[in-house]
Amino acid sequence: MATKCIITGVPGVGKTTVITGALTKLEEMGVHYANISFGSFMFETALAEELVRNRDEMRLLGKDDQKSLQRKAASAIATIDGNVIVDTHASVKTPKGYLPGLPEWVLEALMPDLFVLIETDEDQILGRRLGDPSRVRDMDSYRALASHQSFNRAIAAAYAMKTGCTVAIVTNADLLLDRAIDDLAGLLE
Ligand code: AMP
Ligand code: MG
Repeated sequence: MATKCIITGVPGVGKTTVITGALTKLEEMGVHYANISFGSFMFETALAEELVRNRDEMRLLGKDDQKSLQRKAASAIATIDGNVIVDTHASVKTPKGYLPGLPEWVLEALMPDLFVLIETDEDQILGRRLGDPSRVRDMDSYRALASHQSFNRAIAAAYAMKTGCTVAIVTNADLLLDRAIDDLAGLLE
């Protein structure tokens, strides 16, 4: 049976790093997953439609533009067979509030078996955002970040209610990346 896994975490938590590590480990064990970035699917369309210049501008677009890009990405990703990991966001922080990363029509297209939240302490996330010149990260306060991580847990529960997927939390703490990679690989093997 193929596994559909959604992996989420606030920007800067180290999602992509943990996923890459877990996939390398799984490949060594002969387990293969397609690694799909939801944001890259959205960005390809956003560029073609000349809506943005970089991927970090997408969360500042109007709600309707973001939802239209989201819908197109979901239907493209839904056609991919076999074990799939979708690297995405439980919610996106926009100027108008949190936008659900997986509204009903996205969930119905993707129908995940497993939903993963990658988390760590807010001070660690703030430090990582400051140290990443490759992206235009929001410089949130500690409290704003805590509120976003807590909203993401709440909305993950709603996603589980809708699909029956399990929800797992993986902690990606400073100096303990190996543990996060092992934990994620253990969920996917
Ligand atoms: P990432 O590289 O994962 O941070 O994704 C880049 C951008 O893609 C995010 O900042 C969002 O604007 C957008 N994005 C990714 N996943 C979703 C989603 N499920 N729903 C809406 N926007 C998303
Ligand atoms: Mg990433």
